[in-house]
Amino acid sequence: MLESQRPNPFAMAQEQLDQAAAILQLDPSLHTFLREPMREMHVTIPLRMDDGSMRIYRGYRVQYNTARGPAKGGIRFHSAETVDTVRALAAWMTWKTAVVDIPLGGGKGGVVCNPKELSPSELERLSRGYIRAIGGFVGPEIDVPAPDVYTTPQIMAWMLDEYENMVRHHAPGVITGKPLIMGGSQGRFESTARGGIIVLREAAKQLGTALCGKTMAIQGYGNAGQHAHRIASGECETRVLAVSDSKGGIYSARGLDYAAVSAHKAATGSVRDFPGADNITNEELLTLDVDVLVPAALEGVITKANADQVKAKIVAELANGPTTPEADAILFDKGVYVLPDFLCNAGGVVVSYFEMVQNASAYYWTPEEVGQRLEAKMTTAYDAVHEMAQRHHVNNRVGAYLISVQRVAEAVRMRGWA
Ligand code: NAD
Repeated sequence: MLESQRPNPFAMAQEQLDQAAAILQLDPSLHTFLREPMREMHVTIPLRMDDGSMRIYRGYRVQYNTARGPAKGGIRFHSAETVDTVRALAAWMTWKTAVVDIPLGGGKGGVVCNPKELSPSELERLSRGYIRAIGGFVGPEIDVPAPDVYTTPQIMAWMLDEYENMVRHHAPGVITGKPLIMGGSQGRFESTARGGIIVLREAAKQLGTALCGKTMAIQGYGNAGQHAHRIASGECETRVLAVSDSKGGIYSARGLDYAAVSAHKAATGSVRDFPGADNITNEELLTLDVDVLVPAALEGVITKANADQVKAKIVAELANGPTTPEADAILFDKGVYVLPDFLCNAGGVVVSYFEMVQNASAYYWTPEEVGQRLEAKMTTAYDAVHEMAQRHHVNNRVGAYLISVQRVAEAVRMRGWA
């Protein structure tokens, strides 16, 4: 699908909220307040290129809602980034921190750029330039960024260093997803996928089955998708038949070996042309005959145009916003069990929160401690969402919204903001 044909993600996010507000009979002023971001920054970042020329980049940081705590959310470097994408992602962060009940609000940032075209030193200067532009408005008690699409622990390290230069003291809690050596948390890099697999395991139990032996297709082979492949095929004995990245996908009826596919991607830059597998398109991957479909790339990929061809029985949304509201209704009518993004991919922000707690106390946990606490947060959140969805005869996304919107609305009301 062309970028210009993708649905507007912020309109999607507002429509999802409206549905929940109607069921909750939310006070109109609270509803109006929650439909818009509380604060947003639009910044211009000059970048000196390696050849001496200058380029000007556009950046955003949206602090959607801070009633329950400091804004929290990643920074995306992508050429198709728009302020509406950032607004939507910041809104979903607000509902995500609320559904897993951690004391944070929602935010998100982005720079309109193609990081694949930048040299490492240009990428470093752009990362530092972005944080200089927004640095006066972030901080451990204000707004805490993290990695997202095409941003890495190295980029977080540059941003932390630049921020600490500005404030002239150590402040590791200003950013999460940092390398371990700079105050990162054990388990952070795999946490988004790990949390998703915990939720998927609980859902399978609820549906009277188990993940072992099931088939899976994963769209996107970055942080979220690649770790999902490793954990699902290793620990859960799920057969991953297809994976993809921005260049396209691969399929093998026998299943794809994680170590071999990730080594092939590392060597060639893509999963395409993996020996022994067939090349497929990203669109074909979404409609494969598998038990579990895991969108783990970008938003707006399951739409009214392809939802009725989805054959998976469970859709586990590791990506943010992969399913449009029209597609949601089609999947629900078909009996597809959708694990909504802001529940399914919340493992990342949960361990980011653990990272902030460890930074604040300057005391670091073992991988086992992180794993146990993540397990507890994710299973509690899944149980609550499933129970809410059953009680109101709605899909899991609406169930999750009902929980989150109530929590955020209550904090907004108690503060007297609406
Ligand atoms: P990443 O940059 O590590 O990887 C992105 C992957 O998507 C890459 O493999 C890329 O090739 C692929 N991709 C890009 N455009 C594509 C397209 N048009 N079709 C198919 N694949 C495409 O990013 P990530 O951190 O894995 O994030 C992926 C999704 O997960 C995003 O929606 C992100 O918001 C969400 N998410 C990430 C985290 C996290 O902690 N990293 C947490 C929560 C949600």
